[in-house]
Amino acid sequence: HAKETGRRWAWHDAEVDTAISRKQNLLAELDTALEKGQIWTVYQPKWDIPLDRLDGAEALVRWTHPERGNISPDIFIPILEKADRIADLTLYVLDRALRDFSRFDAERPGLVCSVNISAQLLHDPDFINDAIARVGLASLDNSQVVFEVTETAALEDMEASIAALEKIRAAGIRISIDDYGTGQSTMSYLQKLPVDEIKIDQSFVRTLTTDRANALMVRSTVELAHGLGLKVVAEGIEDRECMNQLREYGCDVGQGWFVSKPVTADSFNSRWIQAEAG
Ligand code: C2E
Ligand code: CA
Ligand code: CA
Ligand code: CA
Repeated sequence: HAKETGRRWAWHDAEVDTAISRKQNLLAELDTALEKGQIWTVYQPKWDIPLDRLDGAEALVRWTHPERGNISPDIFIPILEKADRIADLTLYVLDRALRDFSRFDAERPGLVCSVNISAQLLHDPDFINDAIARVGLASLDNSQVVFEVTETAALEDMEASIAALEKIRAAGIRISIDDYGTGQSTMSYLQKLPVDEIKIDQSFVRTLTTDRANALMVRSTVELAHGLGLKVVAEGIEDRECMNQLREYGCDVGQGWFVSKPVTADSFNSRWIQAEAG
C-alpha cells in the first residue's frame, strides 16, 4: 500500500512539474508571441438597449500558440499577472484596440472601446501613465474609452486603487466595474469608488429568465446603479428572452452571444461598421 502511495506521489510530482514548465514556457514565449502576432485581439459588440443600436465593443485577447493551439485567456492571464508581465500584454491590447477603433470611428463616430485592465495594474504608476498617454494620442475622444476593472481586486488597498481610478477619470477615460456581483461589493463600497459603469457578471445574467434569485439580483442592481448615477451593462445575454427582460429592467447596455460572439477586427468592421454605415 505504501508503495502504491509512493508511486501516486511520484506521478503527481511529474504532473506538477509539467504544469510549472508549461507556465515558464509561456512566460519565456510572451515576447516572441507578441512580435510574431500570435497574440491578437477580437471584439465583442456591445448593444445600446434603449436606442437599439451598436454601442461599441470590448477587446478580448487571444493567443494562438504554434504547438498548443489556442490558449484561453483564463489560463494565460493569471500566469502573466502572477509573473508581473501583464502590463506588457495590456499595453499591446490597448494599442491594438485604439488603432482598430480609430479606423472604425472614422465610419461610425462615437463607438465605445472597452479594454480589460487587471486590477493589480492600478498599483503600477508607470502603467497608468503610459496607458493614459496612449489613449490621449489616439484619435478617439478619451471618453470613448472604458477600462474594465474586476471588483475583487479593486477592493484590495482601496486608497491606492481610488487614486489610480481618479487619475484615469481625470483624463476623461471611463471606468467599469467588471464581473459585478461575484466579489464583495456593497452599496457603500460602490459609492466610494470613482466609477462610471458596472458590468453585471454573466453568471447572473445567463440564467436570468429561469432563476428568480438572479433575476432579483439583476433588477435591484440596475435600480441601485441608476440611483448612484451609474450606467449598467449586462454580459452573457444568450437569448432573446433574456434581452427582453433586461430591457424591461432598464438595463443600458447588453453583451453576449445573442448580440454576437467576439469577432476579428475585420469581421467587426464588415459586419458591424460597414453594414450599419451602408
Ligand atoms: P470577461 O472580461 O468577463 O469577458 C467575458 C468573457 O465571456 C469572454 O471570454 C467572452 O468571450 C465570454 N462571453 C461573452 N458573451 C458570452 C455569452 O453570451 N455566453 C457565454 N457563455 N460566454 C460569453 P474570454 O474571451 O475567454 O475571456 C475570458 C476572460 O479573460 C475575460 O473575462 C477577462 O477577464 C480575461 N481577458 C480577456 N482579454 C483580456 C485582456 O486583454 N486583458 C486582461 N487583463 N484580461 C483579459
Ligand atoms: Ca471584461
Ligand atoms: Ca484621444
Ligand atoms: Ca465576466
